[in-house]
Amino acid sequence: MRNPFRVVVVTGVPGVGKSTVVSLLAQLARERGMKVTIVNFGSYMLNYALREGIVASRDEMRHLPLRKQLELQRLAAQSIIADARKELGEDGYLIIDTHALVKTASGYWPGLPRHVIDELKPDMIAIIEAPPGIVAERQARDKTRYRADIGGVEGVRRLMEYARAASFASAVFYASTVAIVENPEGKPEEAANKLLEYMSKL
Ligand code: ATP
Ligand code: AMP
Ligand code: MG
Repeated sequence: MRNPFRVVVVTGVPGVGKSTVVSLLAQLARERGMKVTIVNFGSYMLNYALREGIVASRDEMRHLPLRKQLELQRLAAQSIIADARKELGEDGYLIIDTHALVKTASGYWPGLPRHVIDELKPDMIAIIEAPPGIVAERQARDKTRYRADIGGVEGVRRLMEYARAASFASAVFYASTVAIVENPEGKPEEAANKLLEYMSKL
């Protein structure tokens, strides 16, 4: 039911602050002497997609044909675990920055369906959240990314609601805990501290 190392899957709508919080979390955990590896699921997919020359940036991937996204998703899940086995061995924590639900051109699509969960075997699925209006503001401020396709405040609100349902569905396969963590405006370290607290009890 588990990988030898503990697996923490961090999810949340685009722009809520997952990558920001996860990098603070890794810093905090290492300060406490914990062995941690952080990976971004989308970056694994992007490496394969760039090699094939089918996208120029990460935010284009959710607009690829769904069969292609499925193939990239499978490759990413398998290589993340293969790499973590090499890097972590028998203990430590693997933190995966990803999505429980992806808004694609063909509908809402699970980021953690059974074939992914069979690889990751998560101890915990964390959902990073913030009020939809705040998330939309973060998206608008971050010029390094394209997130307009999420649909503004209303699009974020809907995606948050459905993503919670998707997270609980994914948690059922391997008895993962689901932890909802608020990422307060201007205080991402509070979310990182909360995650660390949950993580240390796994
Ligand atoms: P994606 O799923 O698209 O990768 P993400 O959830 O990883 O998004 P980040 O890139 O971490 O989101 O953050 C989006 C923007 O919000 C960034 O500009 C980041 O600096 C900012 N941000 C993150 N957390 C906070 C916070 N607590 N308060 C204010 N701004 C924040
Ligand atoms: P991110 O930088 O976290 O937004 O990831 C970039 C992109 O990778 C996302 O917009 C999705 O298209 C894709 N992605 C990330 N995680 C998953 C996943 N678990 N399943 C499918 N696609 C994913
Ligand atoms: Mg990110």
